[in-house]
Formats: sequence, structure tokens, C-alpha cells
Amino acid sequence: METPKKALITGITGQDGSYLAELLLQKGYEVHGIVRRSSQFNTGRIDHLYVDSHDPRARLFLHYGDLTDGSRLVTLLEKVQPAEVYNLAAQSHVRVSFDEPEFTGLSTGVGSTRLLEAIRMIGLECRYYQASSSEMFGATPPPQNEATPFWPRSPYGAAKVYAYWMTRNYREAYGMFATNGILFNHESPRRGETFVTRKISMAVANIVAGKQDYLYMGNLDAVRDWGYAKDYVEAMWMMLQADKAEDFVVATGTAYTVKDFLQFAFEHVNLDWEKYVRFDERYLRPTEVDSLIGDASKARDVLGWTPKVLPPELAKLMVDADMSTIDLRTKLPAQL
Ligand code: NDP
Ligand code: GDP
Repeated sequence: METPKKALITGITGQDGSYLAELLLQKGYEVHGIVRRSSQFNTGRIDHLYVDSHDPRARLFLHYGDLTDGSRLVTLLEKVQPAEVYNLAAQSHVRVSFDEPEFTGLSTGVGSTRLLEAIRMIGLECRYYQASSSEMFGATPPPQNEATPFWPRSPYGAAKVYAYWMTRNYREAYGMFATNGILFNHESPRRGETFVTRKISMAVANIVAGKQDYLYMGNLDAVRDWGYAKDYVEAMWMMLQADKAEDFVVATGTAYTVKDFLQFAFEHVNLDWEKYVRFDERYLRPTEVDSLIGDASKARDVLGWTPKVLPPELAKLMVDADMSTIDLRTKLPAQL
């Protein structure tokens, strides 16, 4: 029997990590994931993939670690010896990054350097994926592609720009197979509950069930290019199978406002969003990113990647998923 290829995923407990783990297991990989120690289990998104490690069929292995702990990254990489490393871990929320700029820099920015340096220190021959973000483009007008200058508008965006350049630097300085996937917003029923699309789909489900009266929101005019996370993890994998390490924009090229997404989600259950949505300035950011619309021609031409799910279908599938799990969910703390 052939030895399976090994992949290590940081951020495996997040939205993308869970879909990527699923994809790599389907492809026959042995998947290793880094999990942060927490006082409660934080593996809800990957529990369905887990087989007890004593079972000879087990191919998903979890290890405690943290991107702020460089020596742990060294011991883990040395032990696992992965052929592919996907760095998805980050403090990934833009609004939160204004409250916690220093931690965002340490994890989202310097965390990537710790991982790259750990790979270099132990001389590991692997392919490396960095989860870069359209937030790096910030205030630069759309359409944005690989040649568009960065103008980050948040501590999160700035940390991602730093990680992007460190990834390129390790590629150029040490010849590492290190790629940046510059992904535009991507969503799913597993999206964190405080991101705008999921906040909306959960609110619709709660309102239909009579558990919520109003939805409090910030800026409804921002334009985003929303894709489906399941499609986007395929692009990540494709980047690491390419002939050479390059950077790629991954996007749908569609442009909708937050208002549009509200309309898609509420109309799906025959409700008028304007009757339920109220303004709360708490959800505004000190600096906003007005418009992100990606041009993913390079990913299409070089990798053969195209998106399958676009808004408004995305909004509908998220509302349907939240309606079907409504009885299993607990209420969100109001201030989040
Ligand atoms: P999530 O917020 O859902 O997941 C983030 C993951 O990182 C979680 O597993 C989290 O662990 C982990 N994590 C956070 N801090 C640390 C740390 N210090 N050490 C180790 N692990 C840590 O993000 P997504 O899955 O949506 O996104 C994946 C990556 O892609 C992120 O880097 C994000 O910034 C980036 N990205 C996302 C986009 C999107 O639209 N989703 C767009 C462009 C880029 P825990 O579960 O314990 O919190
Ligand atoms: P981001 O693009 O990474 O910041 O993803 P988000 O889903 O957090 O936000 C997308 C857009 O929705 C931003 O322009 C926000 O300002 C806007 N928005 C409006 N109201 C809200 C809200 O209540 N929560 C969040 N998260 N975003 C909101």
C-alpha cells in the first residue's frame, strides 16, 4: 500500500480548515491539524471527520499548538514531516482587529513568520500555502487582481500584508515553494457567527422561529465579492499542486452590497428585510473597506479554477442550513 501524503493545517477548527480537511481526506491524505487549547472543545466543525486515533483507519490527527508559540511549531513540524502546510490560522475578524490590534499582529502577522521560520530551521521540504486576504487591497478601488497595490484599512489587513510579503520573501530568499492565495470573502453554513452573511442567515432563521425580533447592523452599503468556502478550499489545494509557486486571487467577480445580501436572505422566506433591520453604530469600523470585487482570471487560466456557487444561491443555502439547525443552537451574546 502507498504511504499517504501528509498535510498540516493550522486553523483546522475554523470554517476553511474544516472544508479543507474534508477535501484532503477525500483525496487520500493523512491530515494533521493544530488545535488551540481551550476550556471547552473547539472542534465542532471537524467532529464529523474524526475517527479515534487508536483505530487503524484514522487519517485525521489533531495536535495542540498555537501560532504564537514558535518552539511548538518546530517540534510539531519535525514530528509530522508534512509535504504540504496550509497556514489558515488567524485572528480573522476585521472589526475585532481594531479592538485587539496587537494580538492580531502577533497571530495573523508574526504567526506566519514563526511557521515559515520553523520550516526553514528544520530544513523541511514542503509546499506552503498562506491564507492571504482581499482585505489587503482595502481602499484601492476594484477590480482587484494580483498586480493591484495594497492599501489595508484595518490592523487585520495590515497584518495580512506583512504575512503576504514574508511568504514572498521566503520564496525569493530561500527558494521555498511558498504561495499566497489572495481570497475574497467566502462564506458557508460554517462561517463564524459574527461575520455579516452568517449573522444575517442566523437572524432570518431566528426571526422565522419567533426567537428574535430585530437584527442590528452597521454599514449596509459596503460591496463585497462573496463566494462559497467549499469552492475556495479547492483553489488552495490546486495552488500547491501547480508547477511553480505563485500568488493567486480567488474570487467570483460578482459585486453585491450588504443590503443585497439582506434582500436575498429575507426574500427566501418571504420577509421584507427593511421591517427587521435596525442600525447600531457599534458595528461600524473606524475605517471601512468600501468595495472589494476580485478578478480571478489568473486562477482560471493557470489552475483551471472557477467558482460554482454565487450569491444569491449562497444566501439561500446559508438560510436553509440555519433554519434546519435552529433547535440545536444557543443564543449569541448580544454585544457580539
Ligand atoms: P476562522 O476565523 O473561521 O478560523 C480561524 C482559525 O484560526 C480557527 O481554527 C482558530 O482557532 C485558529 N486560530 C486563531 N488564532 C490562532 C492562533 N494564535 N494559533 C493557532 N490557531 C489560531 O477563519 P476562516 O476559516 O474563515 O479563514 C481561514 C483563513 O483565511 C484565515 O487566516 C482568514 O484570515 C483567511 N481569510 C478568510 C477569508 C474569508 O472570507 N473567510 C477571506 C480571506 C482570507 P479557534 O477555532 O480555536 O478559534
Ligand atoms: P470583512 O469584509 O472581512 O470585514 O467581513 P464581514 O462579514 O465582517 O463584513 C463585511 C461588510 O459588512 C463590512 O463592510 C462591514 O462593515 C459590513 N457590516 C455591516 N453590518 C455588519 C455587522 O453587523 N457585522 C459585520 N461583521 N459586518 C457588518
